[in-house]
Amino acid sequence: MILKINIQILRIKFQKKSKLKRRNMALIKCIECGNEISNKAEVCPNCGCPVSDTVKEKNNKKKKMLIMILIPIISIIMICCLVIGASLIIKRYNTKTGYYNNLKWGITSERLEKKLKDVEKGSKDNCYIQTQSDYEGITGLSAAIFYYWDDNNKFNQVSILMTYKGTELSNKVMLEKYVSQYDDRYGEHECSNSYTYEWETSKTKIELINVTGNVVSVKIYDKNNPKEEDK
Ligand SMILES: [Zn+2]
Repeated sequence: MILKINIQILRIKFQKKSKLKRRNMALIKCIECGNEISNKAEVCPNCGCPVSDTVKEKNNKKKKMLIMILIPIISIIMICCLVIGASLIIKRYNTKTGYYNNLKWGITSERLEKKLKDVEKGSKDNCYIQTQSDYEGITGLSAAIFYYWDDNNKFNQVSILMTYKGTELSNKVMLEKYVSQYDDRYGEHECSNSYTYEWETSKTKIELINVTGNVVSVKIYDKNNPKEEDK
């Protein structure tokens, strides 16, 4: 007898559920009492709380979730855009002016020292020296970089002495690589002789000299305040 009633109840419950499904109804939990109610009902039969409140709450939760997912995604996209934009601007700025690593001509030696990392004072009073291996990302290329300033403590020249000790590329190929890199950066070069390449930008002159087989010297200097040759 009890078993029969139980089966009857189960059947009714099942029918209720399938009816709900057919009418596109859903069972939702009442926000007040937690009772399961149809989303088409007006109020919760258990506590009388309006079903619209529960539906609103549910929708709000969905919106919040969506916002929580979207905010980080949008932030990441915006940061990427900013970084790419800034690097493009800096690249164009460097190309147009020819400033070495965005260091403006005319800044004081103290400013220069602050901006540079790992510099040593040169043997002469008017320069800092920096040494770098795998210079500009080229394996086997070492560079000594000299930063000079004039008698008025104004930064006006960078000299780079590059030596190549790699074995994969010949010295001739390396020279072509330097020259094409500078062509990309500063525009077509001019040649005053077979071993000197020159570029000129709005603020800067650049001279690349192939000193010997694997030694290349680059002078990058303030066009309006060229360095007096070594006294
Ligand atoms: Zn309720």
